[in-house]
Amino acid sequence: MAVLPNDGSTINWLTRIIKPKIKGNSKRTSPREGLWKKCPSCGQALFHTELERNLDVCRHCQHHFRVSSMRRMEMTLDSDGREELFPALYPSDPLKFKDIKRYRDRVKDAQKSSGTNDAARVVKGSIKGVPAVVTSFEFGFMAGSMGSVVGAKIAHGALAAVENKCGFITFAASGGARMQEGILSLMQMAKTSAALTKLEAAGLPYISVLTDPTTGGVTASFAMLGDVILAEPNALICFAGPRVIEQTIREKLPEGFQRSEYLLDHGFLDAICHRKDLRNTLADILSRLTGFPVETIRTSGDVPLKPKPEPPIEPPAPDLRRAEADAEPSS
Ligand SMILES: [Zn+2]
Repeated sequence: MAVLPNDGSTINWLTRIIKPKIKGNSKRTSPREGLWKKCPSCGQALFHTELERNLDVCRHCQHHFRVSSMRRMEMTLDSDGREELFPALYPSDPLKFKDIKRYRDRVKDAQKSSGTNDAARVVKGSIKGVPAVVTSFEFGFMAGSMGSVVGAKIAHGALAAVENKCGFITFAASGGARMQEGILSLMQMAKTSAALTKLEAAGLPYISVLTDPTTGGVTASFAMLGDVILAEPNALICFAGPRVIEQTIREKLPEGFQRSEYLLDHGFLDAICHRKDLRNTLADILSRLTGFPVETIRTSGDVPLKPKPEPPIEPPAPDLRRAEADAEPSS
């Protein structure tokens, strides 16, 4: 007699054919599991407070997690004197675009899940006392795609820097142009590039920081126009992705192709900067290029870069593979 595996696979096979009448609670998770995050690079379970202290970088393999635009601002800017600019810009739907879902509905869903109006945020503030206007992408909003609002935020951000006579910084994290806005999304490439020329005419610096992933129309426009171009380690930076290129040229691509380290070797970047050094590096570059002095004493909102002492009791790391298996429908 065949012995059936005791891992729920038989039940899963059966439930695919005969739908259960009583729905099981398939999303059973223990309260402790929300406290841990699995590193996608090395697979280690990371305690969320420890990850937060480490600026969302894995302490085992130095994998840089993607961060929200709000978190990026907190990591980068001094806590006092921050002011969000152009928060009331909302995307419209002039093409009345619809694929399998209406664009308007996609936007509503993205706004709900990310808590932002569109895929970018502009904040005026200072970095270690050196004034700057910073634009950061929200990758969680439709993969950080660049539509009219994102283009407007970058262009207006550059002009705000001119008005405030300070440097301009962008943190790119984008899947490229927003296809649902058609030609209007492609026009943002010209709009953002043109706005940067005003910054250049005013003799003010523009620093572009490329984070994982920076692709498509964003790479092909303002992201590569920085006076200084920095990148976070191992970030994917490209126009067309490696899979598309491999399929087109039918050749195996070299190891690390289109990653920060590869691009630095080939002259596309000025430097790769670990997240723990980014704030100091940006303050230093801005200070040298604008003449504002760096404050040696950090302002109160500075995120501590050295880990604090560990809390006395931490719950043990759950077995994530086990947790994934448990999450499968079992009845
Ligand atoms: Zn890791």
